[in-house]
Amino acid sequence: MKNIIDKLYNTKTLDDSEFVELIDCTDTDYLFSQAVKQRKKYYGTDVYIRGLIEISNYCKNNCLYCGIRRDNISLTRYRLSKDDILSCADEGYELGFRTFVLQGGEDLHYSDDEICSIVYGIKNSHPDCAVTLSIGEKSKDSYRAYKNAGADRYLLRHETADSEHYKKLHPKSMSLEVRKECLWDLKELGYQVGSGFMVGSPYQTKETLVKDLRFLEELQPDMIGIGPFLPHCDTPFANESKGSIERCLNLIAILRLMFPYSLIPSTTALASISPTGRERGILAGANVVMPNLSPNSVRSLYSLYNGKLSTGSEAAEAKNELSKLMQSIGYKIVTDIGNVKRNEA
Ligand code: SAM
Repeated sequence: MKNIIDKLYNTKTLDDSEFVELIDCTDTDYLFSQAVKQRKKYYGTDVYIRGLIEISNYCKNNCLYCGIRRDNISLTRYRLSKDDILSCADEGYELGFRTFVLQGGEDLHYSDDEICSIVYGIKNSHPDCAVTLSIGEKSKDSYRAYKNAGADRYLLRHETADSEHYKKLHPKSMSLEVRKECLWDLKELGYQVGSGFMVGSPYQTKETLVKDLRFLEELQPDMIGIGPFLPHCDTPFANESKGSIERCLNLIAILRLMFPYSLIPSTTALASISPTGRERGILAGANVVMPNLSPNSVRSLYSLYNGKLSTGSEAAEAKNELSKLMQSIGYKIVTDIGNVKRNEA
C-alpha cells in the first residue's frame, strides 16, 4: 500500500485498480500523514471558515436521497428574504467570516434579478468578502448574471459520474449530462468551482467512485465537497444504509493527494455521522469548515438527512468553540477570504 500512496503523492494519479485498493485501505496512518504533508505544503495549518446561509428549503427537484425533495410533504417550507440574508451576512462578518455560502433548494421564487441583488448587496456591504452560490442547475445566462453581480464561487456537486448510477439517484427529469454542462459553464465564466459527491449513496460501487475521481481529474475543481450519505425518513431511500465514515476519510485523503491545491471541507455530514467526524476530516486532509449562519428559527428545517447538526461547533455563533477544537488538533481557524492556492507549493 505504501508504494501506491507514494505514487499518488508524486504523480497525483493512479491506475483504476490502485484507486480501488486505496479506497478500502484500512491501515490509514501513512495515507493520512501523506495527505496532511501535501496540504501543509500549500496551506500550512490554516483552516478556512465559510458562513453557510441556507436560504430556502423549497425545491423543484425530487432527488431520491434528499430530505428537501419536492415530494416530501411532511416538511415545513421556508425561504429567507433578501433582508434576512443580508442580516445573516452582517452578523457573520462581525463573527469573522469572510466568505458567505448561499445554499438552497432549486426555489423558483427567486428570480435571477433577486439573486443578483442579494449577491450585490452582500458584496456592497462587505467588499472584502467572497460570495459562493450553491443553488443548483441554472442556464449559462443566469450564471453569467450572478457572476456580473459579484458572485465569486459556485458549488454544484456532480453527485456521481456514472450515468446509470445518476439515474438511480434522480428522477427522469435530471441527467448527469446537464449537471456536467453546468459545471463546465461555471468554469468558463471564471467562477471558482466546487464539485463532489456523497460517499455511500445507494448503488455506489468502488467502480463508480473511480469514475468520480476521473471526472474530477478532468474538471480540476477549486473546491471538492464530499460527505457520507445519510438517510432521511421521508425519502425513497429511508431504509438505505448510511455511508461509511472510514471510506469518506480515505477519499478525503485521496482527493488531497490528487488535488493538493484544493479547498476541501470537513462537511456537516461528516460531523453529523460521528461526534469526532469534523476533526477526523481535517486530520485526513480537509482544510475548510462551514458553520451554519442561518437564522436559528429555520435551521432544523433545512433537513437534508436525519441527524443533521446545526448546533455546537456547527453553529457560526460558536466560532470560539470551533477555534479551540481546531487548536486542540494542531490547526487554526483564520479570518481570510481563503481563495484557492493553485501554485503555492
Ligand atoms: N440545490 C443545490 C444543488 O443541487 O446543488 C444545493 C442544495 S443540495 C441539498 C446540497 C447537497 O446536499 C447535495 O449536493 C447533496 O450531495 C447533499 N445531500 C442531499 N441529501 C443528502 C443526504 N441524504 N445525505 C448526505 N448528503 C445529502
